[in-house]
Amino acid sequence: MNQHAPRRVVIVGGGTAGWMAAAALSKLLKGAYGPVTLIESEEIGTVGVGEATVPPIRLFNHLLGIDENAFLQACQGSFKLGIEFDGWSGEGRRYLHPFGTYGASIDGVSFHQHWLSQRARGDTSELDDYCVAAVAARMGRFSRGDDEPRSVFSTFSYAFHFDAGLYARFLRERAEAQGVTRIEGKIASVQQNGQSGDVTGVRLEDGETVEGDFFIDCSGFRGLLIEGALKTGYEDWTHWLPCDRAVAVPCENGGAFTPYTRSTAREAGWQWRIPLQHRIGNGYVYSSRHISDDDAAATLMANLDGAAQADPRFLRFVTGRRKKLWNRNVVALGLASGFLEPLESTSIHLIQTAIIRLLSLLPLGDDDPVARAEYNRLSILEMEHIRDFIILHYFINGRSGPLWEACRAMAVPDSLHRKLDLFRTRGKVVRYDDELFAEASWVAVLLGQGIVPQGYEPMADARDPADVARRLAGMRGHIARVVERLPTHAAFIAEHCRAP
Ligand code: FAD
Repeated sequence: MNQHAPRRVVIVGGGTAGWMAAAALSKLLKGAYGPVTLIESEEIGTVGVGEATVPPIRLFNHLLGIDENAFLQACQGSFKLGIEFDGWSGEGRRYLHPFGTYGASIDGVSFHQHWLSQRARGDTSELDDYCVAAVAARMGRFSRGDDEPRSVFSTFSYAFHFDAGLYARFLRERAEAQGVTRIEGKIASVQQNGQSGDVTGVRLEDGETVEGDFFIDCSGFRGLLIEGALKTGYEDWTHWLPCDRAVAVPCENGGAFTPYTRSTAREAGWQWRIPLQHRIGNGYVYSSRHISDDDAAATLMANLDGAAQADPRFLRFVTGRRKKLWNRNVVALGLASGFLEPLESTSIHLIQTAIIRLLSLLPLGDDDPVARAEYNRLSILEMEHIRDFIILHYFINGRSGPLWEACRAMAVPDSLHRKLDLFRTRGKVVRYDDELFAEASWVAVLLGQGIVPQGYEPMADARDPADVARRLAGMRGHIARVVERLPTHAAFIAEHCRAP
């Protein structure tokens, strides 16, 4: 027996967020909650810049029953083993943030602690030499890996680069086939209950009214329901994440077809390079207080690997989040919920985790303050953890220039200070709750940007150093040998997931 009265869910907006929500709700609820309707306006359009993701996107696709090769073909996708940060620790210096662990723990002690102990004894090997994802990325090679716990292929993960507009289209087909009703039209006004303030419906420009019980605001930066109607308020994080604009342009393929995203630090921000099958996505994320729009566009256009395929497109944003991600009977997803700049490719991930969280906390009855409070608590915690990780890149930068010097001088959140102090003194990383970026990610960025711990955990000295040195050499050699046998990134795509 169905214990809930059917509830009409209305999704406002059909960008990546809207169609991810529609595809997931229709697939996983199978109509058990109530009908799902999505409204979008082709005239308004979507953000849709070339996108990079993080490994959990694979779980989301799996949950939706999506075949990975078919998805990559449909979205012109490529593989991503991490991000290369160029110039963040000073001009000409590079490091990788790979999607994988370093080595294997020895006697229950994190691998990088042993590496630090060996360094103190004169070892000169790089930490990257112990990470399959890092070695493969540098060599332009790729394989999917496996789950066999004793295999070196189980020590890394991967994500994708893909065209987010094509992904939305791909998900739309599935969502409509799964019963979602799509309405094309521009929303002119939002209707609310005079007493409770709950949203009751939206009125389109052509006069049609779409009523609902529960609304998912995926309307992008404008936040049509969450802000426009409900005036939820916004927590501004620009004092920590000062970039507030981006200029984006796709270009023809040129340069290496890298299985990683590149982030190159520039005078007033940073430039992304995201290789897809049919083009390269590029953009300059910058602080408008430190460079003009014209100069940012000129910098971007002068630093492309192929001929530009369009005019540069400008986007404005304010880093931060809505004070509540779920207010009254409206949940905001995607850009409507807030924006952490794309430095660690986390926006689509936040959409995905929000959808999964919402699915388990959908309101039972007209109002569900318990579910709402928990949803808000968990969502805010998740965003703050990611926020701290992104701030870290700016705070410990090694560049000169007004933006970069100001970032080094900023007062960062206490939560970040605690992490930094622990790493500086003993190379220790504590993972809070279930935060997205685990130990290896923090170690990659901290060491990559020049924070060398003063010490390491005493347990790393418990084993005979000569024995540890032998093990390290063995791991290094093994990883180098197996990666050398992998196909190139281009060859892997040509064989398994080349777009028609
Ligand atoms: P949008 O794409 O803006 O969609 C909004 C939808 O609402 C549209 O369908 C629009 O038609 C509809 N709409 C709005 N108003 C109305 C109305 N009045 N009536 C009817 N419909 C309406 N994410 C990543 O994961 N990785 C990245 O590398 C990455 N890079 C990014 C770089 C930049 C510069 C920016 C700005 C974002 C980046 N993102 C990235 C974020 C990513 O692009 C978005 O999170 C994602 O595409 C979701 O967008 P959205 O669906 O929330 O909003």
